[in-house]
Amino acid sequence: MGLIVQKFGGTSVANAERIHRASLRAIAAKEKGNQVVVVVSAMGDTTDDLLDLAKQVCEFGPTKINPPKRELDQLLVTGEQVTIALMAMAMQALGHQAISFTGGQIGLLTDEAFTKARIQSINKQRIFEQLDEGKIVIVAGFQGVTPEGDVTTLGRGGSNATLVALGAVLKADVCENYTDVDGIYTADPRIVKQARKIDRISYDEMLELSGLGASVLQTRAVEFAKKYNVPLHVRNSQNDHEGTWIVSETPIMEHIVVSGAALKKDITRITFTEVPDRPGVAAKIFSEIGSANIVVDDIIQTINEEKTAYISFTIDKSDLPDARPVVDRLVKEFGGATNVVFQDDMAKVSVVGVGMRVHTGVAGRMFKALADLSINIENITTSEIKISCIVKREDGPRALQAVHDAFELHTTH
Ligand code: ASP
Ligand code: MG
Repeated sequence: MGLIVQKFGGTSVANAERIHRASLRAIAAKEKGNQVVVVVSAMGDTTDDLLDLAKQVCEFGPTKINPPKRELDQLLVTGEQVTIALMAMAMQALGHQAISFTGGQIGLLTDEAFTKARIQSINKQRIFEQLDEGKIVIVAGFQGVTPEGDVTTLGRGGSNATLVALGAVLKADVCENYTDVDGIYTADPRIVKQARKIDRISYDEMLELSGLGASVLQTRAVEFAKKYNVPLHVRNSQNDHEGTWIVSETPIMEHIVVSGAALKKDITRITFTEVPDRPGVAAKIFSEIGSANIVVDDIIQTINEEKTAYISFTIDKSDLPDARPVVDRLVKEFGGATNVVFQDDMAKVSVVGVGMRVHTGVAGRMFKALADLSINIENITTSEIKISCIVKREDGPRALQAVHDAFELHTTH
């Protein structure tokens, strides 16, 4: 007997029948003697559809605007609100007591950063009261309210943040994340056919992988789970198989050299050519890029003989519209021979594993796998538990397959 928080993503609640099936799963957990809190996403593609509508209405005016963020959140929270009500009805129809709550109704307070708000606190009392009355509590994911009472959302995929935050404040025994795949894979199975489901992975490895585009879990949710040491179990809502457990690192994990590989396909490289080689130049570039809220992946600087430097960095392709004006302004400011080159045909292939801390030769093995296929490495970056190579986008899928083979990720070691 314990406390379980379950989350059902959009596909797992996409229609009435799936909402019924998800309800059965929550009821089954309750009947085993657990207290159960359920977090739900908007049905199917609802959030995308609402975003699309918002874009459409904004295009009619004489000046095109981006949907204002406060109103966007006002719109998007409706998606999850539909699901909670339907799920509470589905459970009651099955003869079980259940109650639904919006973010505001459980006092899930956030800051005022509309569309990407951060959770500040949750009033757990209301939830516990209902659990103690024997009810299943259903909470709308992805949403909160500001102290003034305006509704906010937590960024795309934000129901996971709700799941983990509830797990932390309620001190849940486990957070179950139900989705439409069996768990986390050694690589994207759409690209690597032999990719294998991982049984257990550490928070840090999962953080690296989700930062690299393994999109089952929002990075922020994993950070939160790590901070509060909440065990996460990612599993398929269509079957009863064990999924992937994301947990604190154990010594045994270091036996596995590489746990997973990932490919980030949409990387753009920006190169300043012939910038003045003097103190403060890099500081200027990266503080301005940072102020525009653009995350820089990796940086290379090379020095010329003529007292000028090349500074290259990579960003997500989707950040290019925000980066361009900043970069153009900097080129003007540096003056002289400084220019800029944009290359948007890059990809990044990476391997991740806590075992890298104790095993040697990992980088060599990765580079050889790519060399054997004549794939040129444009740049290399490493962290304690990750090695990444920037390659041409067209080489990406082959590169991912090659490193997956090189580290024999299709077999358990
Ligand atoms: N419905 C929101 C989205 O699609 C939140 C979520 O699904 O986690 O991003
Ligand atoms: Mg969704």
